[in-house]
Amino acid sequence: MRGVFAIRKEEQAVQFTSRRWLNLQEYQSKKLMFDHGVKVQRFFVADSANEALEAAKRLNAKEIVLKAQILAGGRGKGVFNSGLKGGVHLTKDPKVVGQLAKQMIGYNLATKQTPKEGVKVKKVMVAEALDISRETYLAILMDRSCNGPVLVGSPQGGVDIEEVAASSPELIFKEEIDIFDGIKDSQAQRMAENLGFFGPLKNQAADQIKKLYNLFLKIDATQVEVNPFGETPEGQVVCFDAKINFDDNAEFRQKDIFAMDDKSENEPIENEAARYDLKYIGLDGNIACFVNGAGLAMATCDIISLNGGKPANFLDLGGGVKEAQVYQAFKLLTADPKVEAILVNIFGGIVNCAIIANGITKACRELELKVPLVVRLEGTNVTEAQSILTNSGLPITSAVDLEDAAKKAVACVAKK
Ligand code: GDP
Ligand code: MN
Repeated sequence: MRGVFAIRKEEQAVQFTSRRWLNLQEYQSKKLMFDHGVKVQRFFVADSANEALEAAKRLNAKEIVLKAQILAGGRGKGVFNSGLKGGVHLTKDPKVVGQLAKQMIGYNLATKQTPKEGVKVKKVMVAEALDISRETYLAILMDRSCNGPVLVGSPQGGVDIEEVAASSPELIFKEEIDIFDGIKDSQAQRMAENLGFFGPLKNQAADQIKKLYNLFLKIDATQVEVNPFGETPEGQVVCFDAKINFDDNAEFRQKDIFAMDDKSENEPIENEAARYDLKYIGLDGNIACFVNGAGLAMATCDIISLNGGKPANFLDLGGGVKEAQVYQAFKLLTADPKVEAILVNIFGGIVNCAIIANGITKACRELELKVPLVVRLEGTNVTEAQSILTNSGLPITSAVDLEDAAKKAVACVAKK
């Protein structure tokens, strides 16, 4: 029981956090890398088959690699709903690039990391292919357990790194980096050696690793992942793939990067929520959860599940809330036809509960709320908030604590 519970919670955490971070497409990440002196292949981006064909001709390369651009990995082994297998193709013929691009653009590509139905491909990357003699793995990430950046690498790249970590953990190497001192030469050299780069390649790989670390710092990344970090028969160390995540809190000083944010793969409702500074995550149950903070969101989800219910969604209000946001939040939550009850679970720290209460009553009246509403408020100004709710004359069920709130919300949907 505990095991299942732990996995479920982890899955939620991943789902919750992964969408809170800015993601860029591979071609955008590679542009940033290129600008910071990191070695990537020459490439063009195309959003039609014709453009892809033209790009392939213009590259004038011995061999071309065509890659579907979606915000998920595992593309190489992915499948399109056009029937085409593989989101990464190598060919020597520009005409074939055009033909393949035709079966990619406008179709959904499903990989291990996408939803089952896949993600629609809108752009492809047309790059100069290079021969790869060896594929290694390299990532730099902010790691809570190290209190700072950590370099993670494996001589066995290209494939799923999770599999390598599980089956041969001795092939995963780490270097903790002191954020004040920066990456040391000796660390970059040791990692290069652990990845299996020797002779002149060792210095080259170490130099790339240091450049990647500088990039990581400069752009306020939370993660830079290169898989494969490869070696060519001609003796070049090249970043063949790139995935970068960014820290939301740095948006104010990374305006150019955040302006590239590709929200087209989000659910429309998530983008609508973002317009009001709200964070929305859709799930598949029937109890809408209106909370503040990711931690409370997860706790709310867990306690609903423990009481036999299933959350329909989360809406995270964050701090510094205005009444108008509460109204918008309710509008978004009730737009989902699966919703049969709403559970409000707000802990007022920075948030003033009275503002929430006023927002709730206003939303209930103006939206003519049809589904039962259970409210648990705690913290700043809670007494005033309670009386606003009680005196509103609206059919709002108050709950004394989180457990009570979950029980009452589950009871509402069970009655249906
Ligand atoms: P992912 O499947 O989404 O991680 O996409 P990648 O960009 O990592 O590509 C998948 C695989 O295609 C890589 O692991 C390589 O084996 C291969 N690949 C990608 N680019 C090239 C290239 O330029 N040359 C060669 N020979 N193989 C490539
Ligand atoms: Mn890859």
